[in-house]
Amino acid sequence: MNSEISKLLIDVKEQILYLQELGVENFSVDLPEISFSPKSKAQLSKSSEISQERLERFVPTDFELPKVETPKENTLKENDLTRRSLLESTKLSRLPSLPKRNSFLPTKPTERARETEVPKQSTEESPQETLFGDFKPTLTESNETIEEIRLDIGNCTRCPLHEGRTKIVHTTGNFKADLMFVGEAPGANEDAEGVPFVGRAGDLLNKIIGSIGLKREDVLVGNVNRCRPPGNRTPTLPEAHTCRPFLKREIAVVRPKVIVVLGNTATQNLLDTKIGISKLRGEFQDYFGINVMPTFHPAYLLRDPSKKREVWEDMKKVRDFLNKD
Ligand code: URA
Repeated sequence: MNSEISKLLIDVKEQILYLQELGVENFSVDLPEISFSPKSKAQLSKSSEISQERLERFVPTDFELPKVETPKENTLKENDLTRRSLLESTKLSRLPSLPKRNSFLPTKPTERARETEVPKQSTEESPQETLFGDFKPTLTESNETIEEIRLDIGNCTRCPLHEGRTKIVHTTGNFKADLMFVGEAPGANEDAEGVPFVGRAGDLLNKIIGSIGLKREDVLVGNVNRCRPPGNRTPTLPEAHTCRPFLKREIAVVRPKVIVVLGNTATQNLLDTKIGISKLRGEFQDYFGINVMPTFHPAYLLRDPSKKREVWEDMKKVRDFLNKD
């Protein structure tokens, strides 16, 4: 009987952990069969290996789950350790894996590292997501050069976007910069000049850069896709996944301290997440140990200038982080 109760309680604990993984933040539950009177608790704890303290631990009177919040950079490690130690003592690891819920969950270092060391002709990426990564991978030093990456890109025909392009729009600026900006894909002006962010959105980006006391030439600016999509449509996932490895290889060479990702598409493609920009912006995210600040795209600000306030808030965080050391 006692060992059955013990098993039941452990199962309840596993279910709670599993629900947390699903994103459930709180629920109320009536558990008459396992609500112990003080007397039976006392009897159980006397006569079995289940101590009073264990009962309370497994069957809290209040089933409120801890709020699942966006982990901050400095709490991520601690959360992982807690999660790991809980998992080690349960059968939860035998439950089916869940799809990745957000970008903060660390992925297996080998899987992510493979992508940064993108095979030269790679046109497809299929990162295996894992829910319970062991530790947070950081970028290993790249032994290639920007010139080598450019040579590898060559006169690229890896995706259909090459058909409509005038010029390939490579990353430009200071390749020793601490700060990098990443957009989605070139527009008409960029396609004509072969330089990222030179149109109206580019003028606004220059102002954003200026707002934190920097000049365009101080920073690095690039896009996930280097060829203009027809009619400025959003690049498809296969198009983004074909081009993204080159950006990632550049990041591995430059290793900026902060990357500002501009808009939904760039954010989702760099961080490999489906979470939208409105949820992610304003908080540093992690990309292999590099702080990533998602913020609104300048083109969006041209359409809705009221959003400039948020971008300014985000840029102040970037500035403060860069000025910290
Ligand atoms: N929008 C982008 O995302 N990139 C550019 O280079 C220009 C506009």
